[in-house]
Amino acid sequence: MTPEEFRTAAHTLVDWVADHRARIPELPVEARTRPGEIRAALPEHAPEQPEPLADVIADLEQIVVPGITQTQHPGFYGWFPSNASLASVLGDIASSGVAALGITWQSAPALTEVEQVVTAWLRELCGLPADFHGAIQDTASTGTLVAMIAARERASGLSEDRGGLQAVDAPLVAYTSGHAHSSVPKAVLLAGFGRENLRFVDVDPVTYAMRPEALAEAMAADVDAGRRPAVVIAAVGTTGTCAMDPVRAIVDVAREYGAWVHVDAAMAGSAMLLPEMRHLFDGTELADSLVWNPHKWMGTILDCSLLYVRDVDHLVACMSTTPSYLKSAADEQVVQYKDWGIPLGRRFRALKLWFHLRLEGAEAIRARLRRDLENARWLAAQIEAAPGWRVLAPVDLQTVCVRHEPEGLTGEALDNHTLSWANALNVSGAAFVSPSILDDRWMVRISIGAEPTERADVEALWDRLRAAV
Ligand code: PLP
Repeated sequence: MTPEEFRTAAHTLVDWVADHRARIPELPVEARTRPGEIRAALPEHAPEQPEPLADVIADLEQIVVPGITQTQHPGFYGWFPSNASLASVLGDIASSGVAALGITWQSAPALTEVEQVVTAWLRELCGLPADFHGAIQDTASTGTLVAMIAARERASGLSEDRGGLQAVDAPLVAYTSGHAHSSVPKAVLLAGFGRENLRFVDVDPVTYAMRPEALAEAMAADVDAGRRPAVVIAAVGTTGTCAMDPVRAIVDVAREYGAWVHVDAAMAGSAMLLPEMRHLFDGTELADSLVWNPHKWMGTILDCSLLYVRDVDHLVACMSTTPSYLKSAADEQVVQYKDWGIPLGRRFRALKLWFHLRLEGAEAIRARLRRDLENARWLAAQIEAAPGWRVLAPVDLQTVCVRHEPEGLTGEALDNHTLSWANALNVSGAAFVSPSILDDRWMVRISIGAEPTERADVEALWDRLRAAV
């Protein structure tokens, strides 16, 4: 394809994207596709000859779009917001267009330095300390894995001979909340701690936040048993109820044992953009590492996750590789992001953030987040006031956990009722929620914060909830 052919095709595609975004409110929120349906609609073999763009776009429209749960729909209340602001989509297009090879500073100095600038912008916007150094990862799962490896290497006394876990005299233990996201235990296991050295610390029965006293007890018991506490992962904004682990108290306990503290604020981190919400993150500034996802609530299109670490030299010592073919004269003066994480080749993700922040401005993003907080408080107040309905966890941010509990309905019958009304809502196509288990019983998470969701949409949702039960 020549640049001229690209120009024509891209205009057509951009028009299609704009039309698609405009009509999302008319689409069902949840994909209605049956398993295998999309595969069956596509040819088994790749085309030998070029096809017209119009045919490709027709298939995009008729086959692909119905196979997407519409997270940009005003009725999307599932999982966590996965906003994809059009400003950041432009940045993604620009990133593809400039086609930078992000392997070293030399291969794309702009990729490195724009990333340094935007991660510093976000650090400042979030009120984080200047000794937090940021890199963009694909996802929080990767960021947490990188942090677990760094924590492991610190506890195992990283040295020139890189003995790794085999060189450790006592088992290294990792601690996290019983409500941490599944990516946390996954990262702990991938980093080699072993299932027997992963502790799920008790949470408070009302707030669902980690109990620092329980953490202290678990660490003391491990030390008594000859193990070494190596890392604590504080879940700030758990996926189930958006509980906020008390980071300051966790840091206090962890410090006694020299353990690394990693904060997983994948979704909630966006709230650090709001000075009035920063009390929920108190102590995060003392952590060793922090991950949060602009690709969730803030709305920079996936994939765009920020990993901040305090001790960059240690991280680089864990991650660096210096083959001769990657050396350049600038090495002593520049950041090499390949040494801040796992992949060598990195995408120019910073452009998504750069476009998003420059075209929207932080003020508009903050206003949208505040709107969502107010909508969540409004919905929680309606639910609390309605007979038979319960809000099951504190609504610190934008997630409202609810159950409708008709009199006399308990146990499995209550679970069936919950799943049945949630399913009815999802099947309606007008809204989408994610049921999940809390204290061994099904409940429904209503995660407010899709970019187009206004108060009128949340009011309509409340009507729909009452009609569904
Ligand atoms: N941590 C928390 C608290 C999450 O809610 C999620 C995803 O929803 C993740 C981590 C994983 O995020 P990612 O998809 O960026 O790996």
